[in-house]
Amino acid sequence: MSRQLNKTYEPQEVEDRTYRFWLEKKYFHAVRDPKKKPYTIVIPPPNITGKLHMGHALDETLQDILIRWRRMQGYCALWLPGTDHASIATEAKIVEAMRKEGLTKEQIGREAFLERAWAWKEQYGGRIVEQLKKLGSSCDWDRERFTLDEGCSKAVREVFVRLYEKGLIYRGERIINWCPHCKTSISDAEVEFEERDGFFWHLRYPFKDGSGYLELATTRPETMLGDTAVAVHPEDERYKHLVGKTLILPLVGREIPVIADEYVERDFGTGVVKITPAHDPNDFEVGLRHNLEVINVMNEDGSINENGGKYAGLPGLEARKRIVDDLKEQGYLVRVEPIKHNVGSCYRCGTIVEPRVSKQWFVKMKPLAEPAIEAVRSGKTRFIPDRYAKIYYHWMENIRDWCISRQLWWGHRIPAWYCQDCGETIVAREAPHACPKCGSTHLEQDPDTLDTWFSSALWPFSTLGWPDKTPDLEYFYPTDTLVTGYDIIFFWVARMIFSGMEHMGETPFHTVLIHGLVRDEKGRKMSKSLGNGIDPLEIIDKYGADALRFTLATGNSPGNDMRFSQDKVEASRNFANKIWNAARFILMNLEGHDIPCTLPEELSLEDKWIVDSFNCLTKEVTDNLEHFELGIAVQKLYDFLWDEFCDWYIEISKIRLNSGDEKAAQNARQVLVWCMSSTMQLLHPFMPFITEEIWQALPHSGESIMISKWPEYDENHCFPKAAEEMRKIMEAVRAVRNRRAEMNVPPSRRARLYIATAMPETFRAGIPIFERLAWASSVEIGPSFTLDGAVTIVTPDAKLFIPTDELVDKKAELARLTKELESAKKQFATAEAKLKNEKFLAKAPANVVEGVRQNAAKLKEHIALIESSIKEMQ
Ligand SMILES: [Zn+2]
Ligand SMILES: [Zn+2]
Repeated sequence: MSRQLNKTYEPQEVEDRTYRFWLEKKYFHAVRDPKKKPYTIVIPPPNITGKLHMGHALDETLQDILIRWRRMQGYCALWLPGTDHASIATEAKIVEAMRKEGLTKEQIGREAFLERAWAWKEQYGGRIVEQLKKLGSSCDWDRERFTLDEGCSKAVREVFVRLYEKGLIYRGERIINWCPHCKTSISDAEVEFEERDGFFWHLRYPFKDGSGYLELATTRPETMLGDTAVAVHPEDERYKHLVGKTLILPLVGREIPVIADEYVERDFGTGVVKITPAHDPNDFEVGLRHNLEVINVMNEDGSINENGGKYAGLPGLEARKRIVDDLKEQGYLVRVEPIKHNVGSCYRCGTIVEPRVSKQWFVKMKPLAEPAIEAVRSGKTRFIPDRYAKIYYHWMENIRDWCISRQLWWGHRIPAWYCQDCGETIVAREAPHACPKCGSTHLEQDPDTLDTWFSSALWPFSTLGWPDKTPDLEYFYPTDTLVTGYDIIFFWVARMIFSGMEHMGETPFHTVLIHGLVRDEKGRKMSKSLGNGIDPLEIIDKYGADALRFTLATGNSPGNDMRFSQDKVEASRNFANKIWNAARFILMNLEGHDIPCTLPEELSLEDKWIVDSFNCLTKEVTDNLEHFELGIAVQKLYDFLWDEFCDWYIEISKIRLNSGDEKAAQNARQVLVWCMSSTMQLLHPFMPFITEEIWQALPHSGESIMISKWPEYDENHCFPKAAEEMRKIMEAVRAVRNRRAEMNVPPSRRARLYIATAMPETFRAGIPIFERLAWASSVEIGPSFTLDGAVTIVTPDAKLFIPTDELVDKKAELARLTKELESAKKQFATAEAKLKNEKFLAKAPANVVEGVRQNAAKLKEHIALIESSIKEMQ
C-alpha cells in the first residue's frame, strides 16, 4: 500500500479510512502467543447511558498510547473494551421516559420494565462505543463485554454465593444511606459531602419525675419522633447521677432512658445527645450496645410514616416545620442557632441523603480489605503517582461494610430466595426448585438488585472468562496497567483489588495510573451548569482525533488536573500540518528515485548529528513511557520534529539535494526517509492516524506502522563527537541569524562572514550551512581577524565578524533614521503640549491623561535610541 499525500492534511477523510483498514486487518485483536509476553489493559467500562466527554477522551487516549506502544514493542497487547449497565443511571432514564407516557414502574411490572430497559440498551448502549472508535482506540472489539452479559452475570452469582458461604455476605438491619428521590440505598462512596447552612435546634426533654430537663441539640428535629434514648458520657460529672433516669419524649410522650456511652463527646454542645437508632449510623451502634428499640419514622420518599403519629404522611421538610412549631408552643424549644455543617447528598441526583435503618445485603469488608491493603503495601500493585496509595490506605483501613443491595430492577438480581413457608433463606447459583429445609416450592426471590460496582469490581477477571479456567484468563491475568481518574479510586479501584485478591489470589493489575480532570482554560471544572464543557466529538470533527489526542497527552502529568482550550488544539493541528508538509517535501524529492528505508553507508556531519539525536530521542521517549511520563515523551517528540528535524535538518538537506552531486543527494534522501519514518513510529501511539498515512506514503516494509517494530536505541547510531560539532555550528548560525534579525537585515542581503576560532576544522565542515542558513556570501576561517567597521558576534567557540556596510546601506539607513527621528520628535511635541494645556488636564478623564503621559515617556526613550543609532553609524 503506497499512496500520495494530499496537498493539505484532511484528518476526517484519513481517520475514518485508516480506522477501517486497521479493523479489517484485525490488528487490534490479540492472539495469544506463548512466545510473546502479554500486556493487558481492561477499559474502565463507560456507562451505557454515557456520552463521550473530555474525561473519557483523556482516559482512552492514555490507554491507547500505552497499548499501541507495547504492541509495537512486541508484546501480545490486549486492550479489553466493554460497557457498564449503570443500574441507577439507566433505571432513572427508563423511569423518566415512562413518566412522559404517564406510566410508573409499578404499573407495568418488573418483566415489562426490564424489556424496556434491554430495548433501550440495544438502541443507545452502543453509542459510547462508536464514539470511542472516533478517537482511534485500538480495543480488541472481538472481546467486547457488558457487565450484564451472560458471562459477567455468571461471575456475579458465583462471587455472591462464595462470599455468602464464607460468611462474608450477610443480610441484616443496618443503617444505610437512603436517597428519597432515587428511592434506593446507596453506598458510602456514593454520598457526596458538602458544607451547607443549617441550624442547631436546642431542645429540652423533661424528666418523668418532674425534676427538670436535659438540654440537647439536633440538626434534624423531625427524627426526634424515633428517639429511643438520650446519652451522656459515662465520666461526665455533670450528668453521671442522672444515668438510668427516665425522660418523657416531647410531642410523642414515650418514656426513654438516659444512658451512658463513650461515643458522646463531653465538650460538644451540652454533652447530651438524643439517640435515634433508625436514622443515624452512630446512634444505631449505640442502640446495638444498649439494646435500644429501633423505630423507623420515615417512608421511602422521606415523608413521615405511621410511627410518626399525627405527623404521619407529612413530607420531610413540612414535618420538620410542624414539629419545631409544636415544640416551641409547648415550651420544649430553647433556641435556634444557625450553623454550617457537612451534609451528604446523593451523587446521582443531589438529594440530601437520609440515614435510614433497613434490611439490606452487606459485604463484610474487614477480612477482604486486609489482603488488598497488603497488595499495595508490598508493591504488587502500585499507584502512580504514589500519593494516591495513602488515600487508598486511609479508605481501606477505615472501611465499613459495603451495602450491596439496591431497590432497583435494572441490574443483577440478588441470587437469594426466601421460603414462604418456613422462612429459610436459600442463596444459590441457579434458581432452586424446592426449599432444602421443608421441601416447599413456595419460594420467592429477593426483589433487589446488586450495586453496579459489584459487577465492575470483577471486571479484570470476569471479562477473561472467570469462573471458568479459560486460556485467556490463564494468559492475560493479572493485567498490567489500569488507567483511571482519581474520582473512582474507592468506587472501583479498591474493589477490584480486594476482589482480585479474594477470587484470583492475585492482584488484578500491577500499576494504577491515576490521571486528573480536564478543566477549562480558566481551570474550572467542565460542567453542564457552567456551560463550559467542550465536546470531544466536535473537536475531532474540526481538528481531527490526532490533534485532540496530542493536546490531551501534551498537557498531562499523572494525577494532576489539566487545562484544555481550543488554542491548544489549534497548536496541535498546526503541528500535524508541519509534519504533513515535511513529509510532502521529502516525497517530492523522492520522485523518480528508488530509496531503501535504511541508512546509507556514508553519513555526513549533519546526518550523524540527526541520527545521533534521534537515537537519544528513542532512548528517552521509551524511558519516559516506561515511567508513565507520557506528557514529557510527547513534548520531546514535538521538539525534535519541529525544531531539529524540520527547521534544521530539512533546511540543511536542501544543500545536498540541490548540489548536483547525485551520490550526496541520494544519501540525503535516504537519511530523510529513514529519519522521518522512524520518528513517525515513535509518534504513532500519540497520533496514530497521520503517522500511518505518512508511513504508508514513504518507502517502507511491512503492512502497517501499528504493527511495525518500535525503534530501539542502537550503539551503532551514536555519534556524540559529530553531534557536538554540529551543535557548535548551529549555535553560531543561530547567533548570526539573531543579530541580523535585530538589525532588520533581509535574507536577500548576503554578507561576508569571518569566523575566528580555535577549532577551524569543525567550522570548516559547516561552511555550506553558514552560506545557506546564515546568508553568508563567503566564509573565511582563521585564528583571529582584525576588521574595521564590523559587527561582532560571540559564541563560546567562535568570534564571528560581518562587515557592517555589507549588512546595512549606510546612506539609506541614515536617511531612514533621520526621518523616523523627525516624526518621533513631532509626536513628542504634540504630547508635551497637551500635558501643558490646563483645559485638557481639567476636562479629560484621568485614564486619558495618564495614557498621554505614558506615550510621551515612550517617545522620549525612542528618540534617545534613534539618536544613538545615528551617532553609532556616523
Ligand atoms: Zn438520588
Ligand atoms: Zn422452607
